[in-house]
Amino acid sequence: MKKKDKKEFKRNDVRIKNISISDMDIFEDEDNHIADKTTSKILEKYKTSKKSGLNLKVGRILKIKSNYKAEVLCENKIYDAILSGRLKQIAFESRNIVAVGDLVKIDLSSQPRIEEILDRKSQISRFSEGKIQKEIIIASNIDQLIITVSYKEPAVNFGLIDRYICAAEIENITPIICINKFDLYKEDTSFKKNIAYYNKFGFTTIFVSAKTGEGLDKLKEILKNKISVFSGHSGVGKSSLINALQPGLNLKVSDVSQHTSKGTHTTTTSKMLMWDFGGFLIDTPGIKTFTLNHKDIDKIPKIFPGFKVYHPICKFSDCTHIHEEQCAVKSALAKGEILKERYHSYLRIYDSLKV
Ligand code: GDP
Ligand code: ZN
Repeated sequence: MKKKDKKEFKRNDVRIKNISISDMDIFEDEDNHIADKTTSKILEKYKTSKKSGLNLKVGRILKIKSNYKAEVLCENKIYDAILSGRLKQIAFESRNIVAVGDLVKIDLSSQPRIEEILDRKSQISRFSEGKIQKEIIIASNIDQLIITVSYKEPAVNFGLIDRYICAAEIENITPIICINKFDLYKEDTSFKKNIAYYNKFGFTTIFVSAKTGEGLDKLKEILKNKISVFSGHSGVGKSSLINALQPGLNLKVSDVSQHTSKGTHTTTTSKMLMWDFGGFLIDTPGIKTFTLNHKDIDKIPKIFPGFKVYHPICKFSDCTHIHEEQCAVKSALAKGEILKERYHSYLRIYDSLKV
């Protein structure tokens, strides 16, 4: 089949009969596994293997190789495993079945086969552009989001930190604020004021330099035995940090001066890597666009950094902290407990999620 023909099949979503499932690898959507509303229903229905007598072992998906093939870590060994026929069927119907980080049950008696996918504790998705937003699952079962920004080049963007914190909270992932390029730091009161704000409301902040090694031991402690994702704009030094933490991982480093001030994204495949000090790193290109979705707008007034303690005492339980009377957030703002700058960031985020 010519490449052009494959594309046409994909675009029109043609259902073809009399074709063996393995031929359908042509529907592969690179690293993006697109879900629609029916996915979870389908998954629920077919979740458990009906085959009896199998000796299934629990493993973790490290890498998606195609819609039907994945690399699985099981009892300290890495296997190339295929989806069972039943799971392939779901994959074909929903185009979303396994994601990096998934825990699966695998049959190792012959060719390694994934028989079951265990419930996800958290997941990171992005949404396609356009009116009907499709969910694209990037990774699952993540413990913490390492929100990586640089102190300079590009300058720290607190609004972006707020967005990432909200997105992490919605998905039940612990946000960690990681400020890289701290070798470039010079006394900065406005920066300190904002950092103090996050600390006051219980967020962990860490200051590091991939260049000098400052703060890396502390970062290792945070990463140890956890599944982490580093996210942040290109050019902030994610790859440099990861390489400094574990040189053998060899992620590409882009030269920020060769591109725009934001650099260029260089990581191309979605995978899970093991730290030699324990734990995992999910390395994925899609994470750059990990952001908030319109459907989550009502959650933002409750979870925006700093608002959690005030929101329950607003007069209205669905207070948006914009025009309502007896609003605890606004009175905290008046008292200086909530920073003006952060409140404005909230308004921008809230506004951007309106349809
Ligand atoms: P990524 O796009 O977030 O993965 O960023 P890179 O790791 O590719 O780094 C982008 C640029 O920032 C490169 O030119 C790095 O050399 C530089 N860089 C990374 N970390 C530091 C740091 O701690 N201090 C300084 N001064 N520059 C850094
Ligand atoms: Zn309020």
